[in-house]
Amino acid sequence: MYQETEAQRRKSPKKKAMPVEVKIVPPDITYTVSMSKPWTHLLEVEMRLNWAQMPEKAELKMPVWTPGSYLIREYARHVEDFSAKDATGNNLTWQKTSKNTWQIDTKGAKEIVARYNVYANELTVRTNELNDQHAFFNNSALLMFPKDQLKTASTVKVVPFGNWKIATGLPKVEGQTNAFRAENFDVLYDSPFEVGNFVETTFNFRDVPHRVIFEGEGNYDLQKTAKDIEKIVAQGVEIFGDIPYKDYLFIVNLRGGGGLEHLNSTALQWNKFGFKPDSRYKSFLNLVAHEYFHLWNVKRIRPDALGPFDYENENYTRLLWVAEGATAYYESVLLRRAGLINDKEALSSKVSLIQALQARPGRFETSLEDASFDAWIKYYRTDENAVNNQISYYDKGEVVNFLLDVEIRRSSGGAKSLDDVMRYLYAEFFKKNKNYTPEDYQKISEMMAGKSLNDFFSKYVRGRDEIDYNAILNGIGLQLSTGASKRESAYLGANLAQTGERLTITSVPADTPAYEQGLNANDQIVAVDGNRASQTFLQTYLGEKRPGDKVKFTVFRFDEMRDIEITLGGRASQDYAIVAVENPTDEQKRLYKDYLGADLK
Ligand SMILES: [Zn+2]
Repeated sequence: MYQETEAQRRKSPKKKAMPVEVKIVPPDITYTVSMSKPWTHLLEVEMRLNWAQMPEKAELKMPVWTPGSYLIREYARHVEDFSAKDATGNNLTWQKTSKNTWQIDTKGAKEIVARYNVYANELTVRTNELNDQHAFFNNSALLMFPKDQLKTASTVKVVPFGNWKIATGLPKVEGQTNAFRAENFDVLYDSPFEVGNFVETTFNFRDVPHRVIFEGEGNYDLQKTAKDIEKIVAQGVEIFGDIPYKDYLFIVNLRGGGGLEHLNSTALQWNKFGFKPDSRYKSFLNLVAHEYFHLWNVKRIRPDALGPFDYENENYTRLLWVAEGATAYYESVLLRRAGLINDKEALSSKVSLIQALQARPGRFETSLEDASFDAWIKYYRTDENAVNNQISYYDKGEVVNFLLDVEIRRSSGGAKSLDDVMRYLYAEFFKKNKNYTPEDYQKISEMMAGKSLNDFFSKYVRGRDEIDYNAILNGIGLQLSTGASKRESAYLGANLAQTGERLTITSVPADTPAYEQGLNANDQIVAVDGNRASQTFLQTYLGEKRPGDKVKFTVFRFDEMRDIEITLGGRASQDYAIVAVENPTDEQKRLYKDYLGADLK
């Protein structure tokens, strides 16, 4: 079923009752995507639009973003060689009426054929790449939609280059070669294509086929990886109890990193040699678990504004901390339950997030809900000030969902967990075709905890309070140890990067000696007390200083050299760990084992 988003509702105000009911006939839409000269990076699109109610001025529009990646990306900028004809081949005049709208004078034609090329030379999970090796494309970055027709079904025919194979989550059209059908534009835009000479394997889980394809060479073991993916699938299905797709496709491109979730597929990118050693392989499995879990959390369990989508504007939600944060949390949950990592590894992934969060002054500036809402202008556009005014809804979202899970387990005596929150959202919202709100998430969590969580949500979700970790972790017999030594050592407080010979300040967290005494991000440090600067040297040199000592930094700021004297501060080094409380009670031991499948030690 289709639901309008707020933005779409505003654009199409409801008319007063009309005397005669006009039957709306949807257009018939067929795309043909060709790639006759892959080395030019041009994907060739033909869009055939057949419509009994063709308007005088037909408007074709390119989406400006891809769901799952919350940034306006202006895909229209890659469109070139646009033309329009009627069915008999007569040229139709057209004009651009906005950055992403092509308006065609149809002159009474009931069928129009638009042709255009899209420059495709950017391999990310939300863009397009075509070269002499393969094609990977996202339909939201490639195929135009007719204005106001997002509910319409369409067919995509692909003409591969040479003997290339095709993989996509879209179902095939019976009796046709390389033709696929999308029931509406949300499904079309949700279904990326890989076309190339990829290697592949399949496995069935509960009679549902899962296809795994790898494009490119690398140090992976296809069969072992597919077996481990199957274990992840099993744990996801275990939580929700059913498999809401007919088949599922894992696309892995062996360059870069990252992933994007879809209803019955995922596009992943990973370094070709990133499958060894074991620790890196586990990071890959984390990515798999993340994108796979999304098929429930965000693709079906949908935050208020996320689906059906408005493809021309930002879609605002305060819930990315759940959509992304809870999904990130379930990476280690699934891997741990699948036996791919142990309880200690699951906890240590939280420790590094907590350590990083506690080093960010931005945690007092931005709440999880605000970070979610502002994703469009901040998360994908971080700058050197991000450390001071932002937090990541992924990282803090993972920490807070972890704590929420622990709190629900503790207060329900182990009867309930975050799994129950997810299951409830799936059964009572997705299955009833509703999106959920921030209030729903709190209410459902409270239902499972059997108590008010208003304090938790107002401090850690809507607010910017320092998190009291131990108050929650103690519930399952754990505590956060900061490992702080009594002795303070000298510190500067700037974050640095060494690139070749060049030592540069990347960011300056607030309230540090570097911040207070005028070192800036992008300053290039050339000398420290007259000695040639390097990251290793600076570390050793400062290690021998005491709090209160003065150090002269010679830096290039823009193109001018200057000396800046800094009085070093003092700080006890902190090395966080999550460890067992002393003398845990039987209840703490029981809850820990129930949660992490091992004895509390
Ligand atoms: Zn995600």
